Amino acid sequence: MIKQLRDTSMKFGFDIDDTLISLREHAFHIYNKNLNKNIPIDVFHEIKKVEIHEAFGLTAEQGFNMWNSSLEEIYYTSCPPYPDAVETLVELSKQGHEIYYITARPSEHGERTKQWLIEQGFPVQAEKFFCGMKDQDKVKIIQELKLDYYFDDKPDVLNTLSNDSLKVYVMNQSYNQHLTIPRITNWSELKEIINK
Ligand SMILES: [Mg+2]
Repeated sequence: MIKQLRDTSMKFGFDIDDTLISLREHAFHIYNKNLNKNIPIDVFHEIKKVEIHEAFGLTAEQGFNMWNSSLEEIYYTSCPPYPDAVETLVELSKQGHEIYYITARPSEHGERTKQWLIEQGFPVQAEKFFCGMKDQDKVKIIQELKLDYYFDDKPDVLNTLSNDSLKVYVMNQSYNQHLTIPRITNWSELKEIINK
């Protein structure tokens, strides 16, 4: 049994924000509340950029400041995981697969982010959590880890990844529709993907 697990064990890497959890939408609600606005959620779903500030009439600089001043609330309140994200990763982990988290969140948020993920039920091992790198530097860690699968939402990250032995998937979002790599829209699809 143990041998069987070892032979079939694979390494899965996941971005966190907007791949496993609905961070931008959570931030959109926080912006509405803190700016005393009521921008409808349909507007959110039409945004073709990763950044959400334009929907609130903010300039790039105002948007940058808004994001940073709201960061505590955005990261550590009730941001919902996507449907089936927690369950799917728990199942992978139970099956003996390795779960890695690779997030560009600033390194000063590493420990608390890890803790927050654990509180949401995600399977986290401290040595399999990486943070604080730039988007375009994720590729180095992903290659060093020799992952079998990697999932991310951001074109800036995904465009740096091309490696025959790595299977890359984009998490479906309004701002990544132009990418032609394989796409995942719900975490319940992962079972079928790995059985291919
Ligand atoms: Mg992301």
